[in-house]
Amino acid sequence: AAHKESHGFQTEAKQLLHLMIHSLYSNKEIFLRELVSNASDAADKLRFEALSSPSLLAEDPDLRIRIEFDKDAGTLTISDNGIGMSRDEVIENLGTIARSGTANFMQNLTGDQKKDAHLIGQFGVGFYSAFIVADKVDVFTRRAGADASQGVHWECSGEAEYSVENVEWPDRGTRVVLHLKDDAIEFADGWRLRSIIKKYSDHIAIPVEMLKEEAPAAEGEEPEEKAPEFEAVNAAQALWTRPRSEVKSEEYKEFYKHISHDFDDPLTWSHNRVEGKLDYTSLLYIPARAPFDLYQRDAARGLKLYVQRTFIMDDAEQFLPLYLRFVKGVLDSNDLPLNVSREILQKDQNTDAIKSALTKRVLDMLDKLSKKDADEYQKFWDLFGSVMKEGPAEDFSNKEKIAKLLRFSTTHTDDTKQDQSLEDYVGRMQDGQKNIYYVCADNFATAKSSPYLEVFRKKGIEVLLLTDQVDEWFVGHMQEFDGKPFQDVAKGALDLGEAENEDDKAEREKAEKDAGALVERVKDVLKERVEDVRATTRLVDSPACLVASDNDMGLQMRRILEQAGQ
Ligand code: ADP
Ligand code: MG
Repeated sequence: AAHKESHGFQTEAKQLLHLMIHSLYSNKEIFLRELVSNASDAADKLRFEALSSPSLLAEDPDLRIRIEFDKDAGTLTISDNGIGMSRDEVIENLGTIARSGTANFMQNLTGDQKKDAHLIGQFGVGFYSAFIVADKVDVFTRRAGADASQGVHWECSGEAEYSVENVEWPDRGTRVVLHLKDDAIEFADGWRLRSIIKKYSDHIAIPVEMLKEEAPAAEGEEPEEKAPEFEAVNAAQALWTRPRSEVKSEEYKEFYKHISHDFDDPLTWSHNRVEGKLDYTSLLYIPARAPFDLYQRDAARGLKLYVQRTFIMDDAEQFLPLYLRFVKGVLDSNDLPLNVSREILQKDQNTDAIKSALTKRVLDMLDKLSKKDADEYQKFWDLFGSVMKEGPAEDFSNKEKIAKLLRFSTTHTDDTKQDQSLEDYVGRMQDGQKNIYYVCADNFATAKSSPYLEVFRKKGIEVLLLTDQVDEWFVGHMQEFDGKPFQDVAKGALDLGEAENEDDKAEREKAEKDAGALVERVKDVLKERVEDVRATTRLVDSPACLVASDNDMGLQMRRILEQAGQ
């Protein structure tokens, strides 16, 4: 009846587990943060299901997490009375370590990268961090609403396989028992555990409890027989509900790790309480590391949504535009109904109002960062700049705000680093220059040595060097900045505006006249393969170049479409 079965892990899961254990070795204590984080998620999920089935909570309504240890047995136990898992859920959730796409990603890691805990941390290896300190892990669990005969025991000793069987289990929720390795026995210690919980899990919204430490019995006295008493070790208040002035940076950072499953500190964050027509609290973070699936359209994104402090869903993507998909955080609304679903969200008019407010909030946060700390902002841009460039197309109303946040490499620095703003560019424009000039190319070397740049370099007119895939599409939507149109240097007749002085003009006219006969001959040879042949002063060293006409698609765009088989 117990129906015990063994399962092997997928190969990439085994590799990942192995890598993780070794790369996180120097930071062992984070296993506790991960397991407490899961227990807290389990409590959130139970509260959510209890909204529609209150009986799930009734018998044992006070949600909490407990941590116990037994020094002699060398065990550490983390238990919760949250949602629990059915047999199928255990296999599904604890049997798959690696997300899809992981195998590919791992193949491309170099030896050094494999030792990088932060890279490894991206995979949400949360639960498996238990194996940093344990050589065997038992999980006993019972799904809320299932009866005692539906308990499940999952067992795994390290790297090859795990087993599952059905067991009688008296309580709702999950108990994780770690059999500590010899070199991790230090964690079976009350003081040590308390300090780790304070450090990493103080912000967890439900109590994380440990047994009260008993004062040792006085000499000659029999120790009293008492039922064990638990006490909360953490503050047990949802972090975003606390006033900003009372939350320390360290707490914001730990909270970020809890909600984002990231191992790194965030770059910056913004915590706001809004009252009035809308009533909500938001806590938004900018990560310091790009997820490996940043460009996968179906990758999870969005905020953790709460309604009146009750967890509703992860990855609520309705509250931020796609070009801000890297933002992580929490939204706690008092306007949305508790029974809100993704479908309802799409129709609720509060959703759009909140989305537009949060979008502005993020853009302002980035603007502030760019003014306060250019180096930190540069880190942001290097990670997410090409995503931000999707902004003008998706979010026309914030085009101006987005434009101020953009950074480019230009002929001013002739460096690959994208660190020049459009304001910088405009500030350096020549008298009479009307356009913002750019050149598009597949890579920096090509852009920088483009023959189209010759005349601009000669005249000291700055040109943006655009080499991101998204660039041509982006300029198409950007169109202008500060009233100055973007102009592709490879397109059409070259109009340098009043930057062309009388001498230049005379030179151009002379060139056109001198070349007249040659132009006619070339036209004759090329016939309908070209639209036109013109004499030009745009070249200094090169004898000839191809230009697209103004209403033609750009060269880069044409190449992208060709690649896509169009
Ligand atoms: P993540 O928390 O990022 O989803 P983890 O590896 O930490 O990844 O956990 C994997 C999954 O196992 C969780 O998503 C959850 O479904 C399940 N799980 C882990 N711990 C618990 C628990 N204490 N109670 C219920 N489910 C759990
Ligand atoms: Mg987790």
